[in-house]
Amino acid sequence: MSRRGVEDLIGETPLVALRRVSEGCRVPVLVKCEHLNPGGSGKDRIARAIVDDAEARGVLRPGDTLVEATAGNTGVGLALMAASRGYRLLCVMPAKMSEEKRSALRALGAEVVITENAPPGDPRNFQGVARRIAAERPRHFLTDQFRNPANPRAHEETTGPEIWRQCAGRVGAFVAGAGTGGTITGVGRFLKQMNPQVRIVLADPRGSRLAGLLGHAPLTDGGAYLLEGIGSSEVPMVLDPSVIDEAEVVDDRESFAMTRRLVSEEGLLVGGSSGTAVVAALRIAREGRVDGPVVAVLADGWDRYRSRIFDDAWMALVP
Ligand code: PMP
Repeated sequence: MSRRGVEDLIGETPLVALRRVSEGCRVPVLVKCEHLNPGGSGKDRIARAIVDDAEARGVLRPGDTLVEATAGNTGVGLALMAASRGYRLLCVMPAKMSEEKRSALRALGAEVVITENAPPGDPRNFQGVARRIAAERPRHFLTDQFRNPANPRAHEETTGPEIWRQCAGRVGAFVAGAGTGGTITGVGRFLKQMNPQVRIVLADPRGSRLAGLLGHAPLTDGGAYLLEGIGSSEVPMVLDPSVIDEAEVVDDRESFAMTRRLVSEEGLLVGGSSGTAVVAALRIAREGRVDGPVVAVLADGWDRYRSRIFDDAWMALVP
């Protein structure tokens, strides 16, 4: 019997083996089903951790407003926490985001502030606007997933130990993309503490500069890509480069094709970054680069991509 309601549904997600797309692999490829969290992504974990941490530090009281610059999974996770603990939520998002995303956040009870599309550093940029709102308005708290150490800590304290336990201490490699870098940093830190031989692999979309900036791929100027949620033109603050051993660069087409195979052949209803992580994991498992299972993260569910990755007309336009 759950006493804390939705919060008790966060984490302790299943780890399952891929059965069909992993044909020809020398070691098992296991996937951590973060899409099965109540908000549909691993961001529920960091939302809970950020709120717990702020409450423990006495900087957040019931009735306060959480402020985050997000259009996506973190907004949903924070909305669950706001509902559960009696906070309000304000999400700042750039104008380019879809009407669906605005209406979803509003349906979750959030106030949505739309900003002009502007680069980082520009005062109109959505992250800058969120920071300013939190500073100017009383009882507004900036959750700040890109800088908040509670983000990687949530994965170090929950996701990492769960994987270790579920694998009975036998992990060859761990593969994840990086948006904030919270997942790969937190899980990577935990697994390396348990066994320094575990390979921590960044799955980076082609067009992102992260793999290059970290010295694991040729450094490029970067470019446009359609995959959402991972990759960056700069190294995010909470990402700890020292835990990453190598990177695999995956292009949009490969990521999307694998996402569709995960849905149709494995019955795993996941989004695009899961495809990226699985493509990278399969390369490692096929080449037999490690002698234990390869674990990949399924970061979120398919719902938010139905009009894109799962739409044939949209997919036909992917370069
Ligand atoms: N996949 C998706 C779809 C995401 O939205 C994110 C986070 N932006 C990630 C993966 C990566 O998670 P993290 O922020 O922990 O690096």
